[in-house]
Amino acid sequence: MSSDECCERFERPGKHARMSLEVIVVGGGFTGMASAAALAQQGATVRVFEAAQTTAPQFRGELIHPRGVRGLESLGLKVPLFERGGVAVNGFAVSQHEGAAPVLLPYEDAQGPGLGIDHPAMVLTMRAQLAARPNVSITTGARIADFVRSGPRIVGVRTADGQEHLADLVVVADGRSSKLRPLLGLEPEVKLLSYTVAFGVDGELPHGRMGHVFLGAPGPILAYPYAEGRIRFCVDVALGAPKGREALVALICEQYARVVPSPLREAMVKSLRETPFEACANHSISTAACAAPGVALVGDAGGCGHPLTASGMTNAMNDVLTLAELVGARGPDDAALTEYQRRRYDFVRMRELFTEALYEVFRGHDDGSKALQSGVFRYWSSSARSRRASMNILSGEEVRVSRFVAEYSRVFRGSAVDVIKRSAWQPRAGGARLKSLAKTSLGRFSAAAGRTARKVVDRYRLGLHPLP
Ligand SMILES: Cc1cc2nc3c(=O)[nH]c(=O)nc-3n(C[C@H](O)[C@H](O)[C@H](O)COP(=O)(O)OP(=O)(O)OC[C@H]3O[C@@H](n4cnc5c(N)ncnc54)[C@H](O)[C@@H]3O)c2cc1C
Repeated sequence: MSSDECCERFERPGKHARMSLEVIVVGGGFTGMASAAALAQQGATVRVFEAAQTTAPQFRGELIHPRGVRGLESLGLKVPLFERGGVAVNGFAVSQHEGAAPVLLPYEDAQGPGLGIDHPAMVLTMRAQLAARPNVSITTGARIADFVRSGPRIVGVRTADGQEHLADLVVVADGRSSKLRPLLGLEPEVKLLSYTVAFGVDGELPHGRMGHVFLGAPGPILAYPYAEGRIRFCVDVALGAPKGREALVALICEQYARVVPSPLREAMVKSLRETPFEACANHSISTAACAAPGVALVGDAGGCGHPLTASGMTNAMNDVLTLAELVGARGPDDAALTEYQRRRYDFVRMRELFTEALYEVFRGHDDGSKALQSGVFRYWSSSARSRRASMNILSGEEVRVSRFVAEYSRVFRGSAVDVIKRSAWQPRAGGARLKSLAKTSLGRFSAAAGRTARKVVDRYRLGLHPLP
């Protein structure tokens, strides 16, 4: 089927003109459900295939920035999620070390609230909402094993039991470990970064409705409310850490708990010792292409980063709304999918760079990143403007690479000046710190920024990925 044939049944703009577009969504997680809602809103008939009988068993994100929440609202899903127990999150409180007063980084009022919600409850609520819409059907317990091709184009999918299902567009939302991505010949850059140990705690955070980041332990701790009176802790544990429940409990109690203020610390330790927790791998996955004729990757299937910035679902929402808008305007032809790919990477490339840099700074594992970390806190203390600029980058309101590089340069200059000042009375230590700052941190950042810049430029040349 050619690109033109695929769009034959798709009448170009005009109200009510788009009712014959058939879409298959692979994966019924957050992204799959948001895709179904966005494409159905454009008038498409959407069939979702989800491998699990209920929700996928792995721990997944629960904190959504205001931009993602506004996306949910535009799809009629925000209110049901708050009704199902989701709580408003108003920004972040970040403390640099044990006993330090946190820097508060609120979202701007005009951006609306963020959302914290138990992940399975969120996905099941979205499914219930979508199942009630006339042009959406959801089949659970149906694993998609392969694509159906017609020449150079994907025209449908094949379930594990061999049945074929045809559609004008296949949307792949099968998550970070996507089994369909390699079938399209897409091999992303994958890096295993660390592990997250995630568990729930009864209680309230010191700054109630804010996400909290506690630094000063071997890895950052992210804690946020995900229901009334419930806090989720996500503890970042290095790759070489000891394995097994007992060893991890001991590690967190001995080396991490001290950076969490009392009485939350005691509640955290009690919960860790007495209730089950989940440990999962944190990967950065960067794809070079995310669309081929007849098919688009969305959400984690298209790539993901360290969960510290709580960006996955906000990024996924951007994918979904961008794809639906383009397909809604002109059908799933090659030009629409090519444009989807470009716009997606415009948004995602800066997010990848930012996440990588922030994780490095928050982990503070060498002299250079420690100097940068101090620079970030000084920068935040210097003005409301700097706090707002950083938060807008963190929450995906600001996505220009140039803005992020400008902010990073300010912090870097401040950190270098500080290290030089200190060198006056500690020449040897100061010199080593400056060297680490320049060679390691700046070196790593320059390399990452260079890669990002090349990818941003490359996107103009990026056509649809040809099927293997
Ligand atoms: C530890 C951790 C913490 C995180 N914290 C946050 C956070 O606070 N905020 C945030 O925004 N993001 C966070 N994230 C990222 C967030 O979880 C993801 O961005 C989000 O879950 C992506 O949703 P998805 O639907 O693309 O993928 P998934 O949630 O992985 O869903 C994929 C779905 O596809 C189904 N599936 C897979 N293969 C097939 C197949 N062959 N056929 C049919 N169905 C299939 C699966 O069963 C699953 O239901 C975190 C991630 C991790 C690992």
